[in-house]
Amino acid sequence: MIGLISATAAGAVARDRLAAAWPDRTRVYEGPVGDAVRAAFAQCEQLVCFLATGAVVRLVAPLLGDKAADPGVVCVDEGRRFAVSLVGGHGGGANELAVAVGEVLGAEPVVTTATDAVDLPGLDTLGLPVEGDVAAVSRALLDGVPVALKAEVAWPLPALKVSAEGAYAVRLTDRLVEPAEGEVVLRPPSLVVGVGASKGAPVEEVLGLVRAALADAGLSVRSVAELGTVDAKAEEPGIVEAAGRLGVPLVTYSAEELASVTVPNPSDAPLAAVGTPSVAEAAALVRGGELLVPKRKSERTDGLPAMATCAVVRRPARGRLAVVGLGPGARDLLTPRAKAELRRASVLVGLDQYVDQIRDLLRPGTRILESGLGAEEERARTAVEEARRGRAVALIGSGDAGVYAMASPALAEASDDIDVIGVPGVTAALAAAAVLGAPLGHDHVSISLSDLHTPWEVIERRVRAAAEADIVVTFYNPRSRGRDWQLPKALTILAEHREPTTPVGVVRNASRPDESSRLTTLGALDPATVDMMTVVTVGNTATRRIAGRMVTPRGYRWQEEPR
Ligand code: SAH
Repeated sequence: MIGLISATAAGAVARDRLAAAWPDRTRVYEGPVGDAVRAAFAQCEQLVCFLATGAVVRLVAPLLGDKAADPGVVCVDEGRRFAVSLVGGHGGGANELAVAVGEVLGAEPVVTTATDAVDLPGLDTLGLPVEGDVAAVSRALLDGVPVALKAEVAWPLPALKVSAEGAYAVRLTDRLVEPAEGEVVLRPPSLVVGVGASKGAPVEEVLGLVRAALADAGLSVRSVAELGTVDAKAEEPGIVEAAGRLGVPLVTYSAEELASVTVPNPSDAPLAAVGTPSVAEAAALVRGGELLVPKRKSERTDGLPAMATCAVVRRPARGRLAVVGLGPGARDLLTPRAKAELRRASVLVGLDQYVDQIRDLLRPGTRILESGLGAEEERARTAVEEARRGRAVALIGSGDAGVYAMASPALAEASDDIDVIGVPGVTAALAAAAVLGAPLGHDHVSISLSDLHTPWEVIERRVRAAAEADIVVTFYNPRSRGRDWQLPKALTILAEHREPTTPVGVVRNASRPDESSRLTTLGALDPATVDMMTVVTVGNTATRRIAGRMVTPRGYRWQEEPR
């Protein structure tokens, strides 16, 4: 039992949230905190105190006895920012508790005992059903004791600090096994059950059949990802209810699609009834995979004909490819979602200089595949290949990973057998605009001046179109040592349609430690001062310099009248 103690209103709110999350494991101690702490210390295996560490230290100090037997104590601060493992880090399980409390309350776990592996995802927070001694294995992971990963099924887990051998183990399997001592079994959603049923088939018959088929094949019902059937049975109560009771979605397919699946046991009955020679096997196999249980009929004790059929398939592992924009450079311009995806991955793919930008955020055990400039196609292919093997991959890029970056080459390689998660980032144009003022207040465009992948004629045509349409332009890749004439040429084209006094913002290394910016004009800009770390934003005919800032009016009518 975990005793919960709080003193303030904010503390009580956090306390109640934890109590609601773990109703069976927690007990709230009301009353004066001194009495509450003493009572909880005597009665509970663990304490979570929503109090200052100083207060808790004073209260528990006289109660401390044996490090192996004392309860573990975790403190959560008033702002719910930190969950501090105070005493009993190992013996009392406070380290692990701090991590778990942090997950529930969104607080940062603070663990000060010597261990190199505290930065680990909780085994019960992976989104997979888990069986076995979670506490013991989590503690082993936290304490750096070797834990073996036995993956019988490929699944995109985050990085866990695991080894090939160990007294403890994390086993990833859909087979019906009892966790051994010191072992945790994770249940990947790897099984698809195809079901067929005649009209009015009772839920008990459908569900009984599914359960029996799984059990006889030695498969865990907790690994069932979905039930599949034909569209015509989408509303069949026995099937709908069976999916509901299993807590999985019911996915339906057209008879046509199912009829196109090659199955071992086709028959005439469903062909006549719904237009496909197989429902159960076809609905299980339609997305590929290995048929573990061929079509099987329900058995009725009353001698009436069977009303349900089912088949079970182990579907191919679905990897996860997160395409993550890191923002322009500053850590606080990296979004929380990007951070979460970096910590969700077990494989990180990216340009070495970007990897350096976030290396400290990665979980221990993350495999890093970094490469130098240029190897773009190869990076994209590597990321997709890793995901196809069922891994959780993060492919990173600076700014937004979809803007002149890795997202398109990667998605050009990717097929629909992996999940792709895009995480937007603050692109250079936006980071620079914020430095300059409000240059993008009206229509704007980004143009890359790199003619490495794009013929110059195309770039020039686009610059001309933007010039004629009076659109604010941000130039990416404006100038490098080998490419020095493109920027002057582009500026000349814009100058044909804009005054020499048009404001131009030049921002180098936006949001990085050596950020610099200049506000100049189309007539005065010296292209030689621009390099590859820079973006150049050219205003339109309405853009003004106001109090040293670059401002493009939003285009309200009175501002838009021709001058
Ligand atoms: N995906 C990136 C762009 C990659 S192209 C993004 O969304 O920002 C590379 C070009 O982006 C550089 O040549 C430079 O023009 C621009 N750039 C990227 N980061 C920048 C920064 N922090 N400051 C200024 N320009 C930057």
